[in-house]
Amino acid sequence: MPQDILINVTPFETRVALVEQGSVQELHIERSIQRGHVGNLYLGKVVRVLPGMQSAFIDIGLERAAFIHVADLRQNRHERSSGGTLTPIEKLLFEGQSLMVQVIKDPLGSKGARLSTQISIAGRMLVYLPYDPHIGISQKIESEQERLALRERVANLLPEDEKGGFIVRTQASDASDEELRADQSYLRTLWTSIQAQAKTQPTPSVLHTDLTLAQRVLRDMVGPDTGTILVDSRITTQQLLEWARVYTPSVESRVKHYSGDRPLFDTANVDDEIARALSRRVDLKSGGYLIIDQTEALTTVDVNTGGYVGGRNFDDTIFKTNLEAAQALARQLRLRNLGGIIILDFIDMDDPEHRSAVLAELNKALSKDRTRMTVSGFSQLGLVEMTRKRTRDSLAHQLCEPCPTCQSRGNVKTARTLCYEILREILRESRQFNPREFRILASQAIVDLFLEEESQHLAMLGDFIGKPISLEVERIYSQEQYDIVLM
Ligand SMILES: [Zn+2]
Repeated sequence: MPQDILINVTPFETRVALVEQGSVQELHIERSIQRGHVGNLYLGKVVRVLPGMQSAFIDIGLERAAFIHVADLRQNRHERSSGGTLTPIEKLLFEGQSLMVQVIKDPLGSKGARLSTQISIAGRMLVYLPYDPHIGISQKIESEQERLALRERVANLLPEDEKGGFIVRTQASDASDEELRADQSYLRTLWTSIQAQAKTQPTPSVLHTDLTLAQRVLRDMVGPDTGTILVDSRITTQQLLEWARVYTPSVESRVKHYSGDRPLFDTANVDDEIARALSRRVDLKSGGYLIIDQTEALTTVDVNTGGYVGGRNFDDTIFKTNLEAAQALARQLRLRNLGGIIILDFIDMDDPEHRSAVLAELNKALSKDRTRMTVSGFSQLGLVEMTRKRTRDSLAHQLCEPCPTCQSRGNVKTARTLCYEILREILRESRQFNPREFRILASQAIVDLFLEEESQHLAMLGDFIGKPISLEVERIYSQEQYDIVLM
């Protein structure tokens, strides 16, 4: 099925939408503020060597000079891992020297960035170690057999002239030889260009930064089904074209600058789709709906029929709603990027054929998703359990924070509950204090209720404590916020 990729660029944020047949299937967002310096390569200049601290300050062009410790110089790699004596820093660095360095820790407060000369460059499946001829496997790939097999495959793919090594990332566990080879050759090309730049650039300068979201899209998301990649910034389009020419030449012809009058994301209603992907309820065309709840441990999806279902076509209506729900929820999992354990609670179906048809529909809908997943059959309780690999943060985690009004319960106390809470509070305070008057500062809804339906109760309390009680609307208060002021 043909897909288009829309890239919306602003100075503060880049947003990417994958659109299939006019509907958004996937969303990716990267904020400039989240991009640190870790992993970046610089050509730096040694400004001071401190033999007493066995460290040195290096100017890499950031506000504050960066810092390198003797143990992070690659000449000491063997000594460091074998516990041998390190070559002292004053024998390895001198003031004024140019040096290729990588940031291993971001600057924080008054501290400069921390650097290393043991370079590593992350690709999609592999991490390239140009100075370290070893092959390492991610700890997260647990099976010993799988680790051995991967090590052998990566070793076999190594070009004869390769002097460096690779770390195999968790993402590589189900990669094909072709994907591994493509990643190897990408990283080697990148390294060659970094080295060339290091010879010609002035000091200090940036030699390499982690890929931007837009670049990762070209590298990871574009496939044979991809139609055009529309970018709404002329500068970014130019940069992407230059990058694509070197690293993903097959993609170059598909990158286009979008200069239409309507905002790019409006052309596919992406912003509406984002709003829907953040809401708990997803409406289905048949009138049914999904309720999606995300907690720390798991996500549950509850399928509901819309309103009353009865009569002769009862089973049929439920079956159709579940089929539609299977498609909608597969799409929502991808759009929201929900990971971990997911429990699907379809509407109960008695007919085993209906159950297997719904399961088949679900698997079919999930097959469009490139993320690794497992799906169980219906459990005894009629639930389908599935897992979806956690990659980046979910959309909700990226864009939202816990609601301060309801403390993330999803509900707020009713205005009447709050009125009674306030009345009890005034009674309690009247025993403790002796003001001339009590004044309630509360939201409009609370004050309205006190002025109308609850005016009797308020008046009774005033008589009982023998003090006037006045009301004042505090516009900035949420429903659950109030103050009782002693006048
Ligand atoms: Zn809330």
